Amino acid sequence: MKLIQSLKELDFTKENILCKPIAFIPTMGALHEGHCALVKAAQKNGAFTLVSIFINPLQFNNIEDLKNYPRTIESDLLALENAGTNAVLIPSHDELYNAGIQDIQVDLHDLGERFEGKYRPSHFNGVIQVLFRLFLFIKPNSVYFGQKDLQQCLVVRQLLDQEFQDICFHMVPTHREESGLAMSSRNTLLSVDDRKNAAEISKSLFALRGNIQNFHADRRTQIAHLKSKGIVTEYLNWVHLPTLENASLLDTNSQHALVFAGYIGTVRLIDNIVFNLE
Ligand code: AMP
Repeated sequence: MKLIQSLKELDFTKENILCKPIAFIPTMGALHEGHCALVKAAQKNGAFTLVSIFINPLQFNNIEDLKNYPRTIESDLLALENAGTNAVLIPSHDELYNAGIQDIQVDLHDLGERFEGKYRPSHFNGVIQVLFRLFLFIKPNSVYFGQKDLQQCLVVRQLLDQEFQDICFHMVPTHREESGLAMSSRNTLLSVDDRKNAAEISKSLFALRGNIQNFHADRRTQIAHLKSKGIVTEYLNWVHLPTLENASLLDTNSQHALVFAGYIGTVRLIDNIVFNLE
C-alpha cells in the first residue's frame, strides 16, 4: 500500500498504476468495516483503489463535533492495508484550500434544503468543495460512497452530473453491526449502554418498513420508543428517491427510503433504509 502524503506525489503514483482505472474512496478516517466494504466493492471491479483521509473542517457546522471527531490514523492505515487498498492519500488543508481553486456552485435544487441540508446548514457546501478539489486533482474513473450517507450520495451525483460526467458513481449498502446499528465513526463516542440503545434506530426503521401503510401512526410510536431509549429524533421520514420528497403508497414508480437522524446525548447518528413498494 502506497502512502501519499502530498498531492504533488499523486502524479508520480498515477504513472505507476499500469493503466488500471482509479477507484477513489474519500473518507475522514476513524475507519471501520463499512469503509473497508467500499474498498472491497471497488476491488471487485478490478480498479486501483485510492482512499483519502481528510477531516474536512468545512463540512462541520459544529466546532465541538469537529474537535471531538475521532482521529485514529495508525489503525486506519492498518485496516486499509488489510483490506488490500492500493494507495492512501493524506492531503493537507493548505493543498486543498489554498491552492487558488475557486469554490464551485452546484445546483442542489431542493435537496440542499431538506434533512441534513436543513439541520446542518453549510454541511453539503463543505462536502462539495472538498470533493470538487479531490476529484480535480485525482481524476478518478469511479468513486465509491456509502448508502449510510444517502443524502450525501444524492448530492455527489449532482456534483458529478454537473461537473464530472466521466466519473462513474457507486453506492455501497450500509454495513451494520450485528445488533443492526449502522457502523459509523461516531459510534466510538457512545458509551456501552448508548451503543446498545442505538441499535433501536435500525430496528425502528425496519419495523416501519414492515408496516409502511401505517407509517404515520407507527412513526409516532417509534419516536416515543426511541425516546424511552434516550434517543431524541431530529427527523424520521418516509421519502422517495432521488428527490427526498415525502412519499406515499401512491408513489409506486420510484424507490423509497426511510431516513432518520437523532441524538443520543451529544452524539448525532443517522441511518436509512431504501426499498421499493411491492
Ligand atoms: P466518512 O469517513 O464518515 O466521511 O465516510 C466515508 C465514506 O464511508 C462515505 O461514503 C460513507 O457513506 C461511507 N460509510 C460510512 N459508514 C458506512 C457504513 N456503515 N456502511 C457503508 N459505508 C459507510
